[in-house]
Amino acid sequence: MQTIPILMYHQIDVPPPKGSPMRGLVVAPRTFWWHMATLWLLGYRGLSMTELEPYLRGELQGKVFGITFDDGYENNLRCALPILKRFGFSSTCYVVAGAVGQQNSWDAAQGIAQVPLMDAAQLQCWVDGGQEVGSHTLTHAKLNTLTAQQQQHEISESKRVLEAMVEQAHGVRHFCYPYGLYDATSVGAVQAAAYATATTTVRGRVALGTSLRAPLRPLELPRVLVSRSTTFVHLLLKCFTRYEDRRTKATPRSQ
Ligand SMILES: [Zn+2]
Repeated sequence: MQTIPILMYHQIDVPPPKGSPMRGLVVAPRTFWWHMATLWLLGYRGLSMTELEPYLRGELQGKVFGITFDDGYENNLRCALPILKRFGFSSTCYVVAGAVGQQNSWDAAQGIAQVPLMDAAQLQCWVDGGQEVGSHTLTHAKLNTLTAQQQQHEISESKRVLEAMVEQAHGVRHFCYPYGLYDATSVGAVQAAAYATATTTVRGRVALGTSLRAPLRPLELPRVLVSRSTTFVHLLLKCFTRYEDRRTKATPRSQ
């Protein structure tokens, strides 16, 4: 069975002081460089979700992996983009459409450091730098706690807002469930809004099935969690062995 890892990052920056909540989700630029360099040396190409689509559908085969960033941090542009460009990789950043140019206020109650999110001009720089913008709802919503109508609004309106804000060749085609929380209504709304894929925080690689056609559920794709402490050896285990696939339970709170 062919498998494709989709890496899940959040922030790329100098990590906050020891003991800070969710510090593990801030990957140092040097570590990120090692991750990309390791996969590049092995002949793998990192791709945005749009570029990964034909591989997920089984139309193309090759040494590829997906790169995703959740939330839309400004440090993705400042610290990750130069490294992505250096290796010729593309990636998808899932942006909270109603928080563009603001901070990760949804994390404030947990005492997580408030850091800037990309503004509209920075999002355009991200896209012009060969990267992609996807949607992460309007408000970083816990979708499974909302009514069907509220879910539909978060999912379709965020697409509309981002498409009006950022000039991107194929529009906003990819979605990511905040906190990995969703239900059947969310999946239906993602489908109705015509997103091509949606990613979760379920850990594992995408299994393409024996026919090498479509993945089982393109709107519930698992990802490989990459954190501050993920060494390049650890990353290889996660990408090329069943290490990550066995951790199929959703992570408790992985934004
Ligand atoms: Zn998030």
